[in-house]
Amino acid sequence: MLIGPQNSAVAGTLAARLRTVRERIGAAARAAGRNEDSVTLLAVSKGHAAAAVGALARLGVEHFGESYLQEALPKLDALAGLELSWHFIGHLQANKTRAVAERFAWVHGLDRLRIAERLAAQRPHWAPPLNVCVQVKLAPDATKGGASASEARALLMALASFPRLRARGLMCMLPEGLDAAGQRARFSAVRRLYEDLRQEGAALDTLSMGMSGDFEAAVAAGSTLVRIGTALLGARADAAGVGGP
Ligand SMILES: *Cc1c(COP(=O)(O)O)cnc(C)c1O
Repeated sequence: MLIGPQNSAVAGTLAARLRTVRERIGAAARAAGRNEDSVTLLAVSKGHAAAAVGALARLGVEHFGESYLQEALPKLDALAGLELSWHFIGHLQANKTRAVAERFAWVHGLDRLRIAERLAAQRPHWAPPLNVCVQVKLAPDATKGGASASEARALLMALASFPRLRARGLMCMLPEGLDAAGQRARFSAVRRLYEDLRQEGAALDTLSMGMSGDFEAAVAAGSTLVRIGTALLGARADAAGVGGP
């Protein structure tokens, strides 16, 4: 069961949560001497029904993230009438690339060339290039996916030869249980890699980092896009992921 806004009280809760999240992003940005408009809010709607996405869209949210393809596709169908930007943020398996290349505007978890090749070949000619962020995992963290710094650099260079893909930046996910200083240190290391790559000539503009539990540290470290689920939409029906991996 996906969780949806059954009534106007739920819609009111959504509006209040959205306001709080936007205020927290703004405060973290200002504290870091940044303009709050420099941080894009991506609402992570996995585990929540299409109606919840529709409610957030009516409140002005444009970017939505999904992690599980079987769960996402019926939602994209149900909301096809709205001008939303869909981001695939899950771990992408080779046998799922076609639907992602056809239906999504962004992919955030790219960490290997084989997946990039498939996405590039499968991106429909009528669609604009697929925006991609390379997921990085910094030692000694053992997150599910992610390229090392040197693998990320090589992958970004390889992406330049795929006109159907547009390399936009880096994405990272922190291990759970870090304190604020640990979060800040990880995010700052990813920011440094991002700045190094830009110095080396990569035309990147997106640093996708920060979730409900760590987005203020991410904004302090320079995140340009935060991916927020729980703080906006509440707890998910199944923390392991509705619809399976
Ligand atoms: C689920 C998910 C999020 C959102 O997580 P919350 O803690 O609910 O904000 C962000 N990014 C990725 C890659 C996710 O899988």
